Amino acid sequence: MAVQGNQIRIGETEVKPGSQASIALPVAKLYTREEVAMPVQVINGKRPGPRLFVSAAIHGDELNGVEIIRRLLRLPALKNLQGTLIAIPIVNVHGLVNRSRYLPDRRDLNRSFPGSEKSSLAGRMANLFLNEVVAKCTHGIDLHTGALHRSNLPQIRANLDDAQTLELAQAFGTPILLNANLRDGSLRQAAAECGIPMLLYEAGEALRFDEFSIRAGVQGILNVMRHLGMLTKGRSHRPPAEPRIAQGSTWVRAPESGILRVLVPLGREVHKGDVLAMVSCPYGNEEHEVRAHKSGVIIGRSHLPLVHEGEALFNIALFNGDRPEDASESVSDFQQQLQTAPLFEEEIFT
Ligand SMILES: [Zn+2]
Repeated sequence: MAVQGNQIRIGETEVKPGSQASIALPVAKLYTREEVAMPVQVINGKRPGPRLFVSAAIHGDELNGVEIIRRLLRLPALKNLQGTLIAIPIVNVHGLVNRSRYLPDRRDLNRSFPGSEKSSLAGRMANLFLNEVVAKCTHGIDLHTGALHRSNLPQIRANLDDAQTLELAQAFGTPILLNANLRDGSLRQAAAECGIPMLLYEAGEALRFDEFSIRAGVQGILNVMRHLGMLTKGRSHRPPAEPRIAQGSTWVRAPESGILRVLVPLGREVHKGDVLAMVSCPYGNEEHEVRAHKSGVIIGRSHLPLVHEGEALFNIALFNGDRPEDASESVSDFQQQLQTAPLFEEEIFT
């Protein structure tokens, strides 16, 4: 998509080059007729360039992205921005208020694109977001977490068969990229139909802040902005290590109902047959091993010690050709690098 100048209009607000705006996009009111709005922050550089949207909480209980965007917007580097950054820290406002992944109509916003002005509540919200934000951008990053009681290792999911998207994903710099098919009704599919390369960042757990995931997210967005020429590369900037590309992933499921003890952390490489966890009965005299049925790297896990048989416990990223050890080593290098990154010196950790 060609970029013509960098004047941009969102809702009723015109944002001139070299200025910023906080815009409240009206969405469906509450029952009480109280107004509800989707918050949009626009930072428009003096010089034209790419228009990047960064969105969070499309699933209303996925909160790491809200904090990633807060930290991103505070960075002094944005003063010299080239192009436009459009940040939407809370897309699914109703879901967030209810601490729920879904909208009050029980639909999933990320399966409701493109929607229309006359469709369901979810479809209307999807349509507003698509028309007012996504369609006005040249690139996008959408921030997610695992579901309730499930954590994801920081990872990018994207259509890596598309050369432009692959470049962005490599620039983001998580050690593992997952080549993921487009899902019907997803924002990624809607963006692809508009010709906009888009990354989905998955990290951490629903309803929790996770410092590692937050840091990796802020760092990754900055890496993408530098790659696109929106920010200059500082002298201290280190390009991210070459990521490993997983062509798919598979879930290891509970062989039996019971009490779960997990034996391997996120990011660990595992081999077919390795014991990943134990499921025991409440009397303590019967135990079942949970074994990996494929080799790869653990990129998602359950945190809940209570499981029913068949429940998804571990998500293993699968690599064609690459040794999983390589991916696992780059995960620990990445964790170390983020622990000492000067960018995060001022943050307070819990
Ligand atoms: Zn999500």
